[in-house]
Amino acid sequence: MKMNGSYQNCNPNHCISCTVQQCANHCGSENYCSLEHIQVGTHEYNPTEDQCTDCKSFRKR
Ligand code: SF4
Repeated sequence: MKMNGSYQNCNPNHCISCTVQQCANHCGSENYCSLEHIQVGTHEYNPTEDQCTDCKSFRKR
């Protein structure tokens, strides 16, 4: 949660590195996710590269 420019109540999960700062689950200045686990999926029928995969736990900040 972002409050007054700093991130409060954020508990980074150091097993899940992430740079998507627009996600509500992101830990701000630390490039980690705050969730215990995430769901990764794909929007492609036959994924062939990393751009084909998505974090399905993403939530708009
Ligand atoms: S939910 Fe996914 S996109 Fe959001 S911070 Fe966690 S790993 Fe990153």
